[in-house]
Amino acid sequence: MTAHLIDGKAFAESFRARIGEAVAGLRGQGVTPGLAVVLVGDNPASQIYVRNKMRQTAEAGMRSFDHTLPATATEAEVLALVAKLNADPDVDGVLVQLPLPPQIDAQRVIEAIDPAKDVDGFHPVNAGRLMTGVPGFVSCTPLGCLLLIKSVRRELAGLDAVVIGRSNIVGKPMGQLLLAQSCTVTIAHSRTRDLADVCRRADILVAAVGRPEMVRGDWVKPGAIVIDVGINRVPNPAAGEGKTRIVGDVAFEEARAVASAITPVPGGVGPMTIACLLRNTLEAACLRRGVPMPAL
Ligand code: NAD
Repeated sequence: MTAHLIDGKAFAESFRARIGEAVAGLRGQGVTPGLAVVLVGDNPASQIYVRNKMRQTAEAGMRSFDHTLPATATEAEVLALVAKLNADPDVDGVLVQLPLPPQIDAQRVIEAIDPAKDVDGFHPVNAGRLMTGVPGFVSCTPLGCLLLIKSVRRELAGLDAVVIGRSNIVGKPMGQLLLAQSCTVTIAHSRTRDLADVCRRADILVAAVGRPEMVRGDWVKPGAIVIDVGINRVPNPAAGEGKTRIVGDVAFEEARAVASAITPVPGGVGPMTIACLLRNTLEAACLRRGVPMPAL
C-alpha cells in the first residue's frame, strides 16, 4: 500500500481563501477582524513565523497589529501591552509569540490574555472548555491536524487514536479533540513503555515529539492515518556541506508504505497552523461583535 498524501499546503490555501471570503462578507457589515501579535526579542524562527502570520492575516483581509519588544523587555512591560490589547476594541485576537525570554513567565502572560481574545487557545479557560466540551478557542496546530484527519475520514467514532507528545500546545489538546470525536485515545510521552507497540494499535497516529524520524514504518498499523506534527532540522550532506533539511517525527517513506494516509513534512500540518489562527480570529471577531460565524 502506498498512502494517500494529505496535502496540508493545498488544504490550508483553500481554507484561507474561504476565510478571506467570509472576512469580505463581514467587512461589508462594517466588521474587520483584527489580530495583534506580540513578539519579544529577536529569535529568527519566531521572526519568520510572525512575518508569515502578519502577511497571511493581511491577505485574508484582516487587520494586523504588530508589536515588537526588545529581548530585554520585562514581564511587567509585556503584561502592560497585553492589558492594552485586551482593552482595544479593534483587536479581536491577541497572540504572544512563544518562546519568551527567560525573565518572562510565559504562563503568567498567557493567563493575562482575555480568553475571548485568546485565538491561540492556550489560556486555561479555553483549555478547560475544550476538556469539558464547551465551545471555546482550540489550539491551532491540533485543530489543523483534526481538519486534515477529517479530510480523509469523516467519521472517527470508535477508532483507536494514539498521540505521541503531551505538550499543552499540541499533544494534550490533540488528545481532547480526538476524544470529542469519540475515539479511544492514548496520549503517549517520553515515559511511555513499549511505545512502538502502543503505536501499532493506532488507527490514527499523531506524532508531536520533536525527534527526527523517530516513528518507524513498523510502528504503523496497516491502513492507519498518520499525522506528523514534528519539525526537525537535520544535516543534509547530499545538498552540500553545512546544508540542512526539515524532517518530521515520522520516517516518512517507511510509514507511507504502510499507512492509508499520511502528512508530509514540510507541507502537511505546518501550513494549517496559521490557517487555523485566522479561523479563530474570524470567530473571535464574530463572537465579540455579535455576528454569526460564517460556515467555512
Ligand atoms: P514539546 O517539546 O513541548 O513536547 C514534546 C513531547 O514529546 C513531550 O510531551 C514529551 O513527553 C514527548 N517526548 C519526548 N521524547 C519522547 C520520546 N522519546 N518518546 C515519546 N515521547 C517523547 O514539543 P511541542 O511543542 O509539543 O512540539 C512537538 C513537535 O511539533 C516539535 O517538533 C515542534 O517543532 C512541532 N510543532 C509543529 C507545529 C506546526 O505548526 N507544524 C506547531 C507546534 C509544534
